[in-house]
Amino acid sequence: MKYISTRGNAPDLSFAEAMLTGLARDGGLYVPAEIPRMSAAEIAALAGLSYEEAAFRVMRPFIGDSFTDDEFRGILSRTYAGFRHAARAPLVQLGPNHFLLELFHGPTLAFKDFAMQLIGQMFEHELEKRGERVTIVGATSGDTGSAAIEAFRGLDNVDVFILFPEGRVSDIQRKQMTTPEDANVHALALEGDFDDCQARLKDMFNDFAFRDGVRLAGVNSINWARVLAQVVYYFTSAVSLGAPHREVSFAVPTGNFGDIFAGYIAKRMGLPINRLVIATNRNDILHRAMETGAYTKEGVTPTISPSMDIQVSSNFERALFDAYGRDGNAVAQLMEELKSGAFTISQGAMQALREDFTSGRASEEETLATIRATHDSTGEVLCPHSAVGVKVAGDYLDETPMITLATAHPAKFPDAVETAIGARPDLPAHMRDMMARPERVSRVPNDLAALQTLIKDRIAQN
Ligand SMILES: *Cc1c(COP(=O)(O)O)cnc(C)c1O
Repeated sequence: MKYISTRGNAPDLSFAEAMLTGLARDGGLYVPAEIPRMSAAEIAALAGLSYEEAAFRVMRPFIGDSFTDDEFRGILSRTYAGFRHAARAPLVQLGPNHFLLELFHGPTLAFKDFAMQLIGQMFEHELEKRGERVTIVGATSGDTGSAAIEAFRGLDNVDVFILFPEGRVSDIQRKQMTTPEDANVHALALEGDFDDCQARLKDMFNDFAFRDGVRLAGVNSINWARVLAQVVYYFTSAVSLGAPHREVSFAVPTGNFGDIFAGYIAKRMGLPINRLVIATNRNDILHRAMETGAYTKEGVTPTISPSMDIQVSSNFERALFDAYGRDGNAVAQLMEELKSGAFTISQGAMQALREDFTSGRASEEETLATIRATHDSTGEVLCPHSAVGVKVAGDYLDETPMITLATAHPAKFPDAVETAIGARPDLPAHMRDMMARPERVSRVPNDLAALQTLIKDRIAQN
């Protein structure tokens, strides 16, 4: 299985190479040269399997010869061992034809654990085999950072640096990043917003001398291995509601388009998905793009669903690549135009996107009202991101079962939840002492050279 860049101008890589690299050298994102198909019989056979075995069968064709079957099974059993629910991704019912896929039972209480725990195990395995050491730098709007730190802390072959926007993550998210004591963990509070963090990260990857000098590796949501890990729960949840014999729809709270893109991959693999609903908060570039065809950057507005406070949605490039008939030059040109703030999606590409995706947006008031109404009618306490999904899903309910992805545990966002229902959700018992632990964090300017110096100094100390 070969991986190619969405901008058509970087070397083809194997699965393991694409995973270790993250961003392609032409600035593009890696995608599989072709999408493997699963037959209806193979999909039906996932029913009743453990999450780990279903994960093995769904992901195996994408891995090629990067891992043997035994190695990959071992990696998967370690990956999900730390989850606190035996089903890993349980489904609960919200209404007659509306289901919630709880993706927050991993170690940091957000869906990002599904992918990050996996790539932590895969990195360790691969780096040990190669006798190499890498520097992981990630940018986070809150949940990626803690998930990455939890996945890589204490590993021998990895230093992990996480950039987060100072003052724009919740207290719990910050504590999760700043309280681990491992020497290979470095939490960096950047003076800027998430898009600044993401932009500086891209700058580091595009500085090849720095990139090669520190052996930079990326684990942001553009990493193909992360997208792949997320494909699995689309299959397990759909199969438990009757796929492949029955279609399902999904509503996905969306920021960087990684999670919903995984749903699109599941559909391309053969899972019968009717609608894939993009649910955004007020930072609605994707919803506007779907409505008008114009992808136009605006400033980021802080919201009560901070992990979706994003304007430039990195993984959307992968969807554009397919919508433009896999024309890397066309994608490269759009991304060049975006540097000045906007591009217009061609009519043909819009038609292709609309065949797979629909979209909606939830305001802050609607998000709070949804937390309240869902609690009243079912007892389920939603986090504000999941509530954005449930709100937008509500506009698309029909005879096809709708599965909304619940992306974080409500206790990660206690202020918003308290505003909505008047009570603060409890952290799980194993995390309750975290708020009292001492923090370790460095404040950094929104400046590439300063960041690079800090990273080089820290690596030299380790
Ligand atoms: C990251 C995140 C999202 C957005 O996921 P994308 O893959 O970036 O679209 C939504 N909700 C929560 C809680 C998150 O952490």
